[in-house]
Amino acid sequence: MKRVNSIVDAKAEIAKLKNENCAEDDVFFQAMEEVLLSIFPLFKSDEMYNKSAKNAIIRRLITPDRVIKFKVVWLDDKNEVQVNTGYRVQFNNALGPYKGGLRFHPSVNEGILKFLGFEQILKNALTGLPLGGAKGGSDFDPKGKSDFEVMKFCSAFMKELYKHIGPRIDVPAGDIGVGGREIGYLFGQYKRMTTAFEGVLTGKPAFFGGSLMRPEATGYGVIYFTRKMLELEGKETLEGKVCTVSGSGNVALHAIEKLQALGAVTVTCTDSKGMIYDARGVDLPLLKELKFERRASLEEYIKAHPEASYTPVSEYPKGGHAVWNIPCYAAFPCATQNELTAVDAKNLVKNGCVSVTEGANMPSTTDAVHIMLKSDICLAPAKAANAGGVAVSGFEMSQNAAMQKWTFEEVDLKLKATMEDICENVSSTAKEFGVAGNYVDGANIAGFKRVADAMIAEGV
Ligand code: NDP
Repeated sequence: MKRVNSIVDAKAEIAKLKNENCAEDDVFFQAMEEVLLSIFPLFKSDEMYNKSAKNAIIRRLITPDRVIKFKVVWLDDKNEVQVNTGYRVQFNNALGPYKGGLRFHPSVNEGILKFLGFEQILKNALTGLPLGGAKGGSDFDPKGKSDFEVMKFCSAFMKELYKHIGPRIDVPAGDIGVGGREIGYLFGQYKRMTTAFEGVLTGKPAFFGGSLMRPEATGYGVIYFTRKMLELEGKETLEGKVCTVSGSGNVALHAIEKLQALGAVTVTCTDSKGMIYDARGVDLPLLKELKFERRASLEEYIKAHPEASYTPVSEYPKGGHAVWNIPCYAAFPCATQNELTAVDAKNLVKNGCVSVTEGANMPSTTDAVHIMLKSDICLAPAKAANAGGVAVSGFEMSQNAAMQKWTFEEVDLKLKATMEDICENVSSTAKEFGVAGNYVDGANIAGFKRVADAMIAEGV
């Protein structure tokens, strides 16, 4: 394999790989390029990392250890055979067992999972915990399926996946379309296949091995990170401020919950079909009922709150999203990748938004990131700001291994401390490398450095 001797060579390598691949890898290359541009100051300033480049450290980092792809055959409620594709991308285990969520969504393909797995390596490194990076999932769509169908799919999926995972090998968790219900079914099937009751999945329901606070962890962590970043950057607190949030799933609703607890007025949420705007602050109990219990469309919110407004996707501004057109102090994209475009970033800047915190993975397009970094907006990148979920997954692994159960308050305190540590580390790394205030570069450099150090120490 060709040696990568400098950042320029590395970029050339990526360009070459890109030509050889298909469009579904676009998001993966987007994620890699961002990291590569960010770590340039590290390569320039530190001889050790220049040497590491001679060891093909970048080439090794951007190539998954393995991509497991398998067929999932299951019977629907009409007794008809359904076939889906399952994946697990085990990307890098330099720091610990592979760790990362499972996504069940019709858009899932190998490219999306490579992007998510790659991001996960650096995110997990930033937590300071002994966790490697991975991601997996399927093109199965849980929407509109009965509980029984979801259970049968999860069982069929695990019949193949169980061969590749284990508490010291690879510990999957949830992501889009995979919550406590799906993790429960997956765990049950793993147990039936292996007879082992062990910490092989995180995000389990709390009554059989799950950590308290895992469902809240990512959303709460996003807000703890934002609070610290605003403090470090000398900005006003979130109390009494108008905030906009996208998404209405696990991350978004728990981010809204913590924002409301801090006295912020959170006026929006979205799903794949449209946006709710409620100037008095969104009704969280109703949202939880709609999304967690009934799995209904947000459009139903209007029935209970006719004074709020609903904008369907078809009425979003060209090239943008209605939610980022609403003036706010702080914005929180918490739905999915590339949901905040250049058009949206310009609107946020124009409306005087002070901070944008990425709750979803890579929600901002490359152009949007550049626009925000050039502006006065404090931009908190996903791999740092949404690391609270995997941090509490790490705590769940510790509790499972030690046969312990920590209280909600204990986990919350540890989560807050972890998010504040990550924020301070990212901020000080950015300062150290001459890009003060740039949390994107700070996160990429700090995460890369920890993984690269381990890879160098472990040899080839
Ligand atoms: P959920 O499945 O609970 O919710 C996803 C939300 O995003 C839903 O509101 C969904 O709308 C919306 N959505 C999904 N796809 C699209 C799309 N293509 N366009 C517009 N909206 C869309 O997922 P999570 O809340 O768990 O995850 C959200 C994001 O956070 C993802 O990027 C995930 O990778 C990331 N993340 C999640 C973590 C976790 O702990 N759960 C940890 C770290 C990151 P609808 O209801 O219509 O489907």
